[in-house]
Amino acid sequence: MNVSPASKTTESLQDLRDSALDDLARVVAAAGDRAFRARQITDWLYKSRIQSIDEMRNLPTSLREYLKQHFKIGGAEVSHVARSADGTRKLVVHLEDGEEIETVIIPTEKRVTLCISSQAGCAMACEFCATARMGLHRNLTTGDILAQVFAASRELNSGEELTNYVFMGMGEPLANYPRLLKTLRIMTAEWGMAISPRRITVSTVGLVPVMERLAADMPVNIAVSLHATTNALRDRLAPINKRYPLEQLIDSCRHLPIKRRDRITFEYVMLAGVNDSPADARRLVKLLAPLRAKVNLIFFNPFIGSDLNTSPRAAVEAFQAVLLNGNLTATIRESRGLDIAAACGQLYAEQHRAAFA
Ligand code: SAH
Repeated sequence: MNVSPASKTTESLQDLRDSALDDLARVVAAAGDRAFRARQITDWLYKSRIQSIDEMRNLPTSLREYLKQHFKIGGAEVSHVARSADGTRKLVVHLEDGEEIETVIIPTEKRVTLCISSQAGCAMACEFCATARMGLHRNLTTGDILAQVFAASRELNSGEELTNYVFMGMGEPLANYPRLLKTLRIMTAEWGMAISPRRITVSTVGLVPVMERLAADMPVNIAVSLHATTNALRDRLAPINKRYPLEQLIDSCRHLPIKRRDRITFEYVMLAGVNDSPADARRLVKLLAPLRAKVNLIFFNPFIGSDLNTSPRAAVEAFQAVLLNGNLTATIRESRGLDIAAACGQLYAEQHRAAFA
């Protein structure tokens, strides 16, 4: 086939960073080149992290030309960096079609965690989350998701290195499963970024069947956003509960293979007067007893347009005490990056104030 470079517009070219090694093996074969070229290409993409096909210097010109006719390297750009007094940095990543997503670098004493977005917007409609107010704009491609990791790496201070990766940014990662899975394959593969899956956590609002697939497909950590101990309240806070109610969610977690089950954390956003009473804590102990689960209590981070309030610290500590008494592991997540609207659930709020007014 004789395709001239001008015959495809940039928009119609596929992002080369959507490719795992086996995808590239097929591309190289179609181009009539030898199999080992696929590995050279993944090295350029995921280890050297070059930004144009022309930089792949050890490829023959003919293969580079073939790649340029069919592919591009995605053009995500950091359009804004907000720096919090606590060291947290929020990157606004501008995608080629104009969508803006956010990714957050969170340094703590021992770790540097990257909080990654999986969708532009979100369709899950959780009451306490700013991203929900956008609705779903679109799924991110694998290239869009990886672009956040590459962009964040370029923003690090000298001596700083990303150690942990959490899919807790914008979007519901399991509602974008095929692209998430390919991203995780590239992140963890030896031919890719060679990150240990134990350093990666995928957080979900509880899409039960997809969670079970993830547990079978990838040994990453799973976090489940729980937030309520009765169906009536969870239906309101996280409406996906109407499709996958609490009993089904907990039962599914119980039946995951033991190694997967051991690595589940339940996230619980503390909302004053809504889900933070001692009775809620006691119900949570009962609900999670069969799982010997870990619970992560999160201060609600307010945003414009929401009437909900954060539980006072004393209430959060009292809640934690009940869980500890009930033999659950329970930690309190301190909010990071609040001053730059980079905290959990605040992404999108800041630069879109008008949408909330
Ligand atoms: N959709 C996925 C991942 C994105 S949300 C999920 O639901 O898990 C990541 C975490 O931030 C979730 O635990 C979510 O409940 C929490 N979160 C959302 N909005 C928040 C807010 N305003 N304050 C505190 N935590 C919030």
